[in-house]
Parts: sequence; C-alpha cells; structure tokens
Amino acid sequence: MSKNGGVSTSTSTRKSRPAIRLDAVCAAAIAVARDALTEFTDVDNVGSHIATRAEAERVVTHMFEAYEPGYRGWYWSVTVMRAPRAKQVSVAEIALLPGSESLLPPEWLPWSERLRPGDLGVGDVLPTDVDDERLVPTYVLSDDPAVAEVEYELGLGRARVMSRTGRQQTAKRWWESDAGPHAAVARVAPANCGTCGFFLPLAGSMGGAFGACGNVMAPDDGKVVAVEHGCGAHSEALPAAGVVPDAIDEPDEPEGGPHEARP
Ligand code: SF4
Repeated sequence: MSKNGGVSTSTSTRKSRPAIRLDAVCAAAIAVARDALTEFTDVDNVGSHIATRAEAERVVTHMFEAYEPGYRGWYWSVTVMRAPRAKQVSVAEIALLPGSESLLPPEWLPWSERLRPGDLGVGDVLPTDVDDERLVPTYVLSDDPAVAEVEYELGLGRARVMSRTGRQQTAKRWWESDAGPHAAVARVAPANCGTCGFFLPLAGSMGGAFGACGNVMAPDDGKVVAVEHGCGAHSEALPAAGVVPDAIDEPDEPEGGPHEARP
C-alpha cells in the first residue's frame, strides 16, 4: 500500500483492453517524468514512484505518490511518449488523479434535484418544470363573460392547477407533519380540529381533511392543520374536573362591617 493510501500496484495494464506491450524506453524514463513533475509542483508534494502503465504503443504513464495538501489518496500521473526509433521521450501529460481510497465529492446532481424544502430564500426564483407531475394544465380561453366570471373561482384562470398526484403528495406530507393527527400536541388534545370553532376548512377536495387554524392562542395559528389534529386551545375545551379551584371560604365579617378589620 502506498504511503498516502492511494494507488498500490507497481506495474499494471488496463484489464478492459488487449494487453499493450510496455515500451522499455518510456518505462525507464522515471527520472524524466519526475523532473517534469517537479517543474509543475513543489518537490515536497511528490513521493515515490508507485506504478507504470502502458497506455499505447510507445506511450507509458508513470504514477507517483502525491503529498498535495487536501488530496489524501490522490496520485500524480505523468504520461511520456516517444516517436518510432527515437531514444528520447517527451512528456505528454501531467495530472493529479484520485486513487482508490481518495475522498471524492458526491456525484453531481442538477440544481433542481439538490434543492430541498426550505432552501428557497427571499428573492430566489424557482421555476417549475413544464412536465411537473404535481401540476396539470387547466387554462381555458373564453370570450364568454359568464365563463370568465366563474373561471377564476374554479381555478381555470390559472395556467395550471395541482394534479391528483400533487394533491396526494401534499396531503400525505401534511398528514405526517407536526400539524397532523400524530403530533404530540394532538395526541393529548381534548378534541380534534374538525369539531373546533377556530377550524377553517380548505376549499375543494382537500377540505375534507385539512383546514387552517384561526386561533391566535393555538400553536398552529395560521397554519394548515389536519381535521384529526388538535390542541388544548380547542374552542370547546372545558377545564377538567378538579382543575377548577374549590370555592374559598370567606372569613366572617367583623362586627361593625369590613372597615373595622382594617388597621
Ligand atoms: S385551536 Fe387547536 S383544535 Fe382548534 S383548530 Fe386550532 S389547532 Fe385545531
């Protein structure tokens, strides 16, 4: 194993292609490769020669340990070559490459797949794909004023509305959220949101399961809550028996009225 945990073979040929004869002159040009490398980087960043690989006829790559800060497990690759019948080799390419144990970044993802809920900041713009499965086209172009009057109410004044898939995904997410029936505050609530006077049902198909909480004293005020969510601020919550303090026995009024009792 190499000193820096990188390439560990001494001489290799790639398995996926026919074996290439290792050119003896290029293979012997380790000093040439090292000299080229030390012109390219600080000599302290170059370690031992660790491998030689035949790339093509009269083309050979020499590999050296790399001590480049921040590149643990990487190695230097110097490719040398020569012309037919020539005894001199020349350097074709120098590269710093990751070895089998090097630390690499995660596979690249397009930005649209890297974004997570909550990443959108003030002023950011997040375009939606034209084929986003959560949306379906619904725009209706009509010159009829009667249609125009109701189309916005029906959602037809918008280019797209949420698809069945989009609504199902949203309902599942909300149901499993802290505003759903499994939240700690809901499990000990005296009753569900569905029977609460502060519950404002959503319009449309989501209205059967979700609404907005309009109780300023509730932890979910202004948020979408599930019908089976709930909290202690339910409009019909009554104090439990025993919580109401017992009536306080008033002391007998002193003779001459309450004024007599004052110092
Ligand atoms: S006050 Fe509590 S029970 Fe009533 S709607 Fe809001 S969260 Fe639900």
